[in-house]
Amino acid sequence: MPSESLKKQKKKAKKSDETEEAKYYCSVCGCEIDEDEFESFDGMCWECWDDQMTEESEDMLGDVM
Ligand SMILES: [Zn+2]
Repeated sequence: MPSESLKKQKKKAKKSDETEEAKYYCSVCGCEIDEDEFESFDGMCWECWDDQMTEESEDMLGDVM
């Protein structure tokens, strides 16, 4: 019985060129984002969304130290 080596699951973000989808742009910095990001991050790219979250949490938490 041949032992099959475990297949490593490698997730690679591969964009197919064939899918023509509407383009989305970050509402803050204007860089191109994909639909996923647009929906997940409220119309922003990950970086700007992260920025906002940081600002908000800083606002809420005040100084933690
Ligand atoms: Zn952005």
